[in-house]
Amino acid sequence: MSERAVRPREETADVALHRAYAEIHLPNLGHNLEEIKKRIPSGCEVMAVVKADAYGHGAAAVAKYLQGSCGVNSFAVADLGEAVALRESGIRGEILILGYTDARHKRYLIRHRLTQTIVSEEHARSLCESPGTVMAHLKLDTGMNRLGERVGELSTLLRIYGNKRLRFTGIYSHLARADSLDVEDAAFTQTQIGLFFDTVRDLKERGVDVGCTHIQSSYGILNYPDLPCNVVRLGIALYGAVPRTARTRLDIPLRPVLSLKAAVSAVKEVRAGESVGYGHGFTAQRDLRIAVVGIGYADGIPRCLSGKGGQVLIRGRPAPIVGSICMDQLMVDVTGLPGVRQGDIATLIGSEGGLELPVDQISELGDTINNEILSRIGGRVDRLPAGEW
Ligand SMILES: *Cc1c(COP(=O)(O)O)cnc(C)c1O
Repeated sequence: MSERAVRPREETADVALHRAYAEIHLPNLGHNLEEIKKRIPSGCEVMAVVKADAYGHGAAAVAKYLQGSCGVNSFAVADLGEAVALRESGIRGEILILGYTDARHKRYLIRHRLTQTIVSEEHARSLCESPGTVMAHLKLDTGMNRLGERVGELSTLLRIYGNKRLRFTGIYSHLARADSLDVEDAAFTQTQIGLFFDTVRDLKERGVDVGCTHIQSSYGILNYPDLPCNVVRLGIALYGAVPRTARTRLDIPLRPVLSLKAAVSAVKEVRAGESVGYGHGFTAQRDLRIAVVGIGYADGIPRCLSGKGGQVLIRGRPAPIVGSICMDQLMVDVTGLPGVRQGDIATLIGSEGGLELPVDQISELGDTINNEILSRIGGRVDRLPAGEW
């Protein structure tokens, strides 16, 4: 597990060092967090989901900011490697591993005081075979059919709680269709919510101390903000990357945290009839000026964007992407933009000159969701704190 810290200031002083980089606007995390907190029940805590390197934003820097400047004391990651890296970066408080951890790694859970999700009865049993007590949250499957012990079999759940080498500090479930308010989707979500709270009540009636309860992730918060949980698991909304077109019950003014930029490495004239790039997938219909931008599919720009009308901003104006996207580069048409030259900075995600290219633009053209585009921004794209260099 490599950890990409936001680099120290002296190394980032010269923008020209960077072919492609992401600016991380940490204060926008604080803004988004506050906006969410205002709208959930008082006393409900936010667990910051920082899996996949904080959705590509850099987990260590994001978590440090949230802990140091916003008082967040609870974090969620996908796996043991991410959890250990986060702890080693100095993060205190709760770190919940949302995924499965094999029992043979139990000592790391204990050593780093991590909290493990129990994904099934078998998982609980295997974790109890060796000495030592692990902090755990029990995952209930209420209809997602991914991780979690099925609700309904109370005896199974009670057996899990009988394992003395697990110290349960929470219970949770995950909603499969919380992003949609269509009648059928909303009905399914209500069924999941009902099953969750019924099971929690049944367990409490049997004398089980379940610890904290949580079922909402970002869309759960935006569409079902009033659920009586102790915790919400906040991911994509924390990063201000809920799509502009999303229809949700709450409409919160979130601010994007990440901007993606790359330097222009060459500008050239292309004559009418000439073609550009691999496979010559684009042919100039008239004389054009083309800028080569130093970012490609290995940096997370989907190759399938070619020919679909994607744009970048240069000198505050939109420039259409032309030809196939290469591994490390792409080409844009800057014919209408006077003065573009080598060394200029192109914006792929972010705002410039009053125009904004949200990550939505890329994910819509790439036929995917913002989470995928952000989390796939490549490891060699430097994450830089905005405004400090
Ligand atoms: C990723 C994840 C989240 C965060 O989801 P967002 O939609 O990004 O807020 C919450 N809970 C679980 C179990 C997850 O896997």
